[in-house]
Amino acid sequence: GWDLKGLLKRNWLLIATIVSVLLGIGLGVLVREYASLSHLDKQYFGFPGDILMRMLKLVILPLIISSMITGVAALDSDVSGKIGLRAVVYYLTTTIIAVLLGIALVITIKPGVSQKAENIDRTEVTQNVNTVDTLLDLVRNMFPENIVQACFQQVRVVNITKDYIIVGSYSDGLNVLGLIVFCVAFGLVIGKMGERGRILLEFFDALNEATMRLVQIIMCYMPVGILFLIAAKIIEVEDWEIFRKLGMYMVTVLSGLAIHSTVFLPLIYFVIVRKNPYTFALGMAQALVTALMISSSSATLPVTFRCAEENLRIDKRITRFVLPVGATINMDGTALYEAVAAIFIAQLNDYDLDVGQIVTISVTATVASIGAAGVPNAGFVTMVIVLTAVGLPANDVTLIIAVDWLLDRFRTMINVLGDAYGAGIVQKLSRRELERMDGTSDVTNPFAL
Ligand code: ASP
Repeated sequence: GWDLKGLLKRNWLLIATIVSVLLGIGLGVLVREYASLSHLDKQYFGFPGDILMRMLKLVILPLIISSMITGVAALDSDVSGKIGLRAVVYYLTTTIIAVLLGIALVITIKPGVSQKAENIDRTEVTQNVNTVDTLLDLVRNMFPENIVQACFQQVRVVNITKDYIIVGSYSDGLNVLGLIVFCVAFGLVIGKMGERGRILLEFFDALNEATMRLVQIIMCYMPVGILFLIAAKIIEVEDWEIFRKLGMYMVTVLSGLAIHSTVFLPLIYFVIVRKNPYTFALGMAQALVTALMISSSSATLPVTFRCAEENLRIDKRITRFVLPVGATINMDGTALYEAVAAIFIAQLNDYDLDVGQIVTISVTATVASIGAAGVPNAGFVTMVIVLTAVGLPANDVTLIIAVDWLLDRFRTMINVLGDAYGAGIVQKLSRRELERMDGTSDVTNPFAL
């Protein structure tokens, strides 16, 4: 029968979030109608929401450092084989395709751009910075001269005179790109150090676990924060067009996910495996529905395994590696979502992104999706990293947070589908190695291609 209590217990956070979104809307509308708040009052009203945003930003630094270093260091031992390498190449390629698709869609659909304001007053602010300098700036940021400083400052080019580039003004925030480059290098070195590196690896591993527990605690506060963020937003809103924009934003993310999962991934699968990609997706149906219901790739993993091995007959030696690693690092849906969300926020703020910033968004969205754990709303937390990297105001995530519970489900579904196609593709590419393995043992594998 129906285990209502168990159902509530497992989904309490989701239920609390939806309830708080509804309560927030109700409270906002009530206050707007019946109370006249001064500007100051409105700010007080948003206070619990501000605290949520501060907590989310607070965990970025330990999150980047611990997840990047442990991720890279662990990869080194697992990926020694060709099978692992193929999987990683597949993960990266499809994630980057997803990011580029997201960027292309959000730039053409322009969900965050006001329809009215568009042709009015676009006085070009001629900046003295050209594309080359922007790209140099990007590379310069990748190599911070001081790792502590990288934790709170980002170097930017200020002024280019005829003959000199003056690098010197600092903007607040985190030099995310610099930190990532450092952590990747550091993780690789640790992974190669053998025994002596183990101490460091364990340290960062523990740091990662502790940070994730902190994130979990923050999640418990999230319903309260969301309630006030949304209520405050509704109270201060003067331009109702914002809701049209939010709707368009959702359309952008969802159509990106749809295109990626029905066109790009199947195409790659078909080109390599030469079998019907849609029959393949059908075989995964149960895992996809589970992902949609529980918005967690990690928690869906048992079902993903079952579908891949029993319905699609993928070799266990492949699924054992490709699926669990994929569930934590291969998140096409999350990567697409993060890129779209960041550019949407830029559009809301009339913030013109230059080439360097778009590149930064692509890189950080890819990395942030790798860093996101396969648990509900993880992609939202790491999205703040992408925003910080290009200096966008993180406060605008209010709107995005309100609909995250819904988008999370769909992107998780695409994350799981991407892992499954990956298993199919890697199996096809690795048939020689698998046959050779079969040859050495006397157990013949009925699933070998
Ligand atoms: N919930 C997603 C997953 O488990 C991660 C995310 O929040 O994007 O795959």
